[in-house]
Amino acid sequence: MDNLLSILLAVFLLVGIPAGKPASTGSSTPLSPSPASGVDYDNFDPIQELPPASHLPYRDLSVLKGRTIVVDAGHGGDNPGARGASGATEANNVLAIARFLQAELEKVGARVIMTRTGDEAPLGGRVDQLAARTLIANRSRADVFVSIHNDSNPDPNKSGPTTYYYGSESLARAIQGELVTALGAPDNGVMRRGFYVLKHTRMPAVLVEAGFITNPYDDLRLRHPVYQRRVAQGIVRGLARYFGG
Ligand SMILES: [Zn+2]
Repeated sequence: MDNLLSILLAVFLLVGIPAGKPASTGSSTPLSPSPASGVDYDNFDPIQELPPASHLPYRDLSVLKGRTIVVDAGHGGDNPGARGASGATEANNVLAIARFLQAELEKVGARVIMTRTGDEAPLGGRVDQLAARTLIANRSRADVFVSIHNDSNPDPNKSGPTTYYYGSESLARAIQGELVTALGAPDNGVMRRGFYVLKHTRMPAVLVEAGFITNPYDDLRLRHPVYQRRVAQGIVRGLARYFGG
C-alpha cells in the first residue's frame, strides 16, 4: 500500500507539476492547502506558516511534572512506514518528533518511556511490533500513551494533523486542539478507531497523525526539524490541557 501511494504520488507530481512548476493555473486539481499565496513548491519554506511560538495561548506545563508518558514512535527497523515524494520515511519523521517530545516533556519534569529510540523495532523485534508497543506501555503503569505517525491518502490535497482515539476522546480533543493551534494547520478533527495500540493499552491512549506524508507540502514540513519540534510542542501543550494546565 505504501508503495502504491508512492507511485501514485510520483505520477501525480510528474503529470501535475511539469518541469517543476506548480499546477496553479490551467489545472483542475491545484495542490492545497498551498502555502501562502504565490509560493510554489520549489520555493516552499516548510516552516513559513508556523505561528510564532510567543503567540501561542498560555498553557501551564507544570501539571506534567511527575506524569509518566509513553512516547511511541511508529514503525522502525524493517518497517519504514509510508514514504514521501521527497524520499523521507514515516519511520524517520516520527522518531525525530518522538525525540523532541521526549526532550520537551522531560524539560517540564515528566517521566518519558520511549518504545524505540533508534531505527529499530521495539524490544529488538523479538515480538510483533504492535504487541511490543502495548507491552511496554502496560508494564510501565504510564498515565498516558501517545503514538506518533504520518498519515497517507490517495488524495494528495489531504493535509494537516488528525488525532485518533478508542476510549479517550477528551485526551484526543485536547491534543488535536493544541496541535492545530501550534502548527497553524488544517484541522481534521479527532476520530474513533480500533487501532491495535489504542485498543490494547490500559491507559488513556491516542494515535497522532502529524500530517499527510502524501501531501507534497506536508512531506516537506514533516521532515523539517523546526516543524517536528513544533509538533512535539503541540502535543505537550495538549497533554498539559488534558491534565488541567
Ligand atoms: Zn504509520
